[in-house]
Amino acid sequence: MSHIDHLGIAVKSLAAARKFYEQLGLQVMPEETVEAEKVRLAMVPVGESRLELLEPLSPDSTIAKFLEKRGEGLHHVALHVNDLAGTVERLKAAGTRLISDDIKIGAGGHLYVFIHPSSAGGVLLELVEDAPQGV
Ligand code: ZN
Repeated sequence: MSHIDHLGIAVKSLAAARKFYEQLGLQVMPEETVEAEKVRLAMVPVGESRLELLEPLSPDSTIAKFLEKRGEGLHHVALHVNDLAGTVERLKAAGTRLISDDIKIGAGGHLYVFIHPSSAGGVLLELVEDAPQGV
């Protein structure tokens, strides 16, 4: 565990969010689409961490449901880990509830898994490992 990889923020409009963060003097990276999660996202580097702006692609996406229930705001916290497979194994052995059993591959080839808020003090926690070298 080395640092907070990013904070995921649910937004209704990526364009509006981009404008706001650019006004703050931050650089917003080009948008990416993650079909598996039905979102469009843009990363905003802040030091060694990032903000992840998430806009739903369809009404049945997790982010769309979150926006409907809670409105715009902080959606998840992502911690950077060096050994995701080993960490997931330990968590499962300890009975931790994960959103999905399998490690997934996200934008840019990084690996990730979500821990259910019921196992993480009410926080939707994402664990992220860098893309394997050479990919
Ligand atoms: Zn994330």
